[in-house]
Formats: sequence, structure tokens, C-alpha cells
Amino acid sequence: MNWEAVIGLEVHAQLLTETKMFCGCGVRFGAEPNTQTCPVCLGLPGSLPVANRKAVELGVRLALAVNAEVRETSLFARKHYFYPDLPKGYQISQYEEPLCEHGILSISAEDGSRRDVRIRRIHLEEDAGKLVHDESYVGENDSLVDLNRCGTPLAEIVTEPDLRSPREAALFLTALRRLVRWLGVCDGNMEEGSLRCDANVSLRPAGSDGLGVKTEIKNMNSIRGVERALAFEIARQTRTLTAGGRIRQETLLWDEARGEASAMRGKEEAHDYRYFPDPDLPPLIIGRDRIEAIRSGLPELPENRKSAWMSEYGLSEYDASLLSEERLVADYFEELARLTGEPKASANWVTGDVLRVLNEKRISVDGLKIRPAGLAKLQSLVAGGKVSRSAAKKIFEETAMSGEDPESVLERTGLAQVSDEQALASAVREAVESHPEQLKRYLAGNAKMAGFFMGEIMKITRGRANPQMAGELLNRHLEGLRGK
Ligand code: ADP
Ligand code: MG
Ligand code: ZN
Repeated sequence: MNWEAVIGLEVHAQLLTETKMFCGCGVRFGAEPNTQTCPVCLGLPGSLPVANRKAVELGVRLALAVNAEVRETSLFARKHYFYPDLPKGYQISQYEEPLCEHGILSISAEDGSRRDVRIRRIHLEEDAGKLVHDESYVGENDSLVDLNRCGTPLAEIVTEPDLRSPREAALFLTALRRLVRWLGVCDGNMEEGSLRCDANVSLRPAGSDGLGVKTEIKNMNSIRGVERALAFEIARQTRTLTAGGRIRQETLLWDEARGEASAMRGKEEAHDYRYFPDPDLPPLIIGRDRIEAIRSGLPELPENRKSAWMSEYGLSEYDASLLSEERLVADYFEELARLTGEPKASANWVTGDVLRVLNEKRISVDGLKIRPAGLAKLQSLVAGGKVSRSAAKKIFEETAMSGEDPESVLERTGLAQVSDEQALASAVREAVESHPEQLKRYLAGNAKMAGFFMGEIMKITRGRANPQMAGELLNRHLEGLRGK
């Protein structure tokens, strides 16, 4: 029997607000334990929650970007369970009447085709606190409670079971992560837990359309982890079903170090949440006009920009993807391309040198001192033959973090390209005459030696030789020697 995997994801995205979902406490990651709390997020009696306007706006922003329907009236509900990191004994979430439903996020599947993944719902909720075990200040058999994260605003994004392989799940998460960052809705940091994903998976006979019994895997902290966990669980379910066994509906915990998922203890997963509308919070009402105002504030989406660049600029899929990964990089590239009128050369600069420097210096593109205008000037120095590509790279290194004008670096460092015929001809002679062995090999038919001589010419001119002119002069010189 051939089995087909069916996967649906539940993703929690921490919304990029200054303050918590229902109180004014800050949400900074890594603050001293229990310093960002107040009676509301500690669940003290008599305190009352008030919904965070900014969180609602970010939720709507995300919903509109995936073409979901936004409810003008949605409800907050209490979801009850007991855990030491949840002082109220319930989490405020949305259950019936969530903020939005019926979205679509389309991804490029493994075979290169587009796949629409349906988003069942996106709702707002608050996060719980954290149990701390691993820090040095915690005794060996102790757990401490840090309630800083309690009440942090989240959007929960639930997909339909539309994904068919671990790879596809990873592609979906990659696209969703890019989108939330692009929109400024969430920073997408999976290691710090600001984007978390639970994965539901079942198998069915290939070609059928019913749904099998699913398991849910939790505790992955990277996209790669989600992919590995799903592959592990699909293999396990395949073995069980092939041996004639049955899958139990249960929740599994992924152990990244061991590369295994195992069942949570029965009690931990036995949930009856007893949802009911939160009597402390009125229905959440968002007027049509406000929804439309948020819609008109949406930036052009990465997928649209990417395909425009491929069709209008002739960029490769690979380059266009790299450039549309982050909005600030995309803006930087677009301005550069507009200034130079040479989008392909501009794409090379940004995907090559710019992204490399951003990585090396661990800065975002707005921390780069050379702005598109400066880089456009540098690009035109190359196009005009004033500097070689390799000298331009050196100038870029100089200006990237200083912002100095490329032309003044050029004058200061003397990196101007040597296009003077006499100077080049003398460099050619010097390169050939000082390497008689290599010349012999060239004349004996080893054409590769020409490349060696070009390298020598570059050394002599400190990388400034106009490569095309130098190449022609070298050829002429060598052919002349062959004739003798
Ligand atoms: P639960 O009630 O267990 O939370 P839901 O119906 O709310 O299940 O679905 C939760 C997630 O699981 C959704 O992303 C959904 O697409 C996915 N899902 C539901 N049924 C299956 C199934 N049989 N196989 C794989 N994924 C499923
Ligand atoms: Mg569920
Ligand atoms: Zn608070």
C-alpha cells in the first residue's frame, strides 16, 4: 500500500506590539524574570483586561494579506486549563467567531508549481508564562515560574490539512515567516519562540480523499525541526499502518537532540477547555472603514514584487527570491535598479556584496551606510570602465560602513582602472618576461597559461588593469612571440 501524508499546521506568531494583549506591560524578550507583569496579566482578582488596538490591527493586516475575511464583530473566549505558568487558570483566546477565516497563502511547491494552502482561521490570543529549569540560578530538581511572557499578544494561524509532505510544510512556513516579517506583524524568530508551529499529520491510502487519524507534534523550534519531526512521525505511522496497526490520536513532543517524537503523558494531553465567551471583554468590533484603511496601508506583497522582477527585469527565480526575502532589502534593490537602469547588474550587487556585508556585520540593510545612490554611482563607475569589478568590490568594502562617496575613495586609494594602453602593454611585457617557464609551456600548446599571465598582470597593476584591454594586449603579445 502506498500512503499519502496529510498535514495541517497551527502557527503562533507573536505580534510586534510594544505592550501586551490586554494590559500595558512591555513584551521585551530576555527581561529580568517577573519584571514585566501587572495585576491584569498576573490574573489578580478585580483586574480587567482591555484589548490592544495595535495587536488587533496587526492581526487584520495579516488576515488581509492572505485574503481572509475579517469579521466586523468577533468574540474573545476563555480557554481553561491548569498549568503553573497560567495564573488565571484560563487563556483568553477566540473560539467561536474568530477575527478572520478563509484565507489562502500560495507557495511554490517542490515540483515548482504554485500551491494554494487554505488558511482556516486566524485568531487573537494571549501567551502563557514560562517554566524555567535550565538557568544556572535554578536548583537541580526545581522549576521556577517567569510570568513575563504572560499576556503577550499572539495571532494563531490554522491551516486546512492541505500540505502533503514535510518539505511542503517547510515551504509553507518559510513563506509565512517571510510574509509576517514583510508586514511587520511578527519578527519571525523561531529560536526565541516568536514564531511557533504545531504540526498535525495523518496518513491515508494514496489517491483516496478521506482523512486518517492524526497526531499532533509540538516543541519544534526551527523550520528544519518541523520538517524533521514530520518525517519522523510519517515514518512511524507508515510502519504502524503497514504492520496492520492503528494510529492513536495523541500529542507528541519533538526532542530535537534525539531526533525523536514521543507521546506526552496521558494527563497532559487530556483537554476539555470549557470555552465560553469572556464576560470581562465586550465583543471586538472593527468597522468596515477601519478594515479598509488597514488594507490600503498594506505594502505590495513579496510574491508580487518577485514575479514583477522576473518578468520586467528578467531576474532569475533564485535572485528574485533572495531579493524579496525582506522588505527593506527589496526596497533597497528597487531603488538601486531604478537609479542605474541596469536591474541585472544591480541584482548582482545586492545578492552578492550587499547581502554578504549584512551577514558579516549582522546588520539590517538600513544600517548599511552606502545607500542606493552611492552604490548606483559605484555601479556606473564600473559600467563606464573607470574601475574594474574587483576594484569596485574594494571600494564597496570601504564605503559600506563609512558612507564615503565612492568617487572620493577612488581618488584617495588610486584604484582607478588602468586603461592606458602603454601602461598596460608594459605590464603585459613584464608579466611574460619574468616567467620564461610558463611562456615555454604556453608556446608548447598549454593555452591555460594565458590565464596565469592575466593573474600576473592583475598583480602588477594591483587589480586595476582593464581586463578586456589587458586580455587583448596579452593575446597580441603572446601570438607575436609564437610567430618568432
Ligand atoms: P483539533 O480539534 O484536534 O485541534 P482541528 O480540526 O482543530 O483539530 O485541526 C487542527 C489542525 O489539524 C488544523 O491545522 C487541521 O488542518 C489539521 N488536521 C485536522 N485533521 C487532520 C487530519 N486528519 N490529518 C492531518 N491534519 C489534520
Ligand atoms: Mg486545534
Ligand atoms: Zn500586565
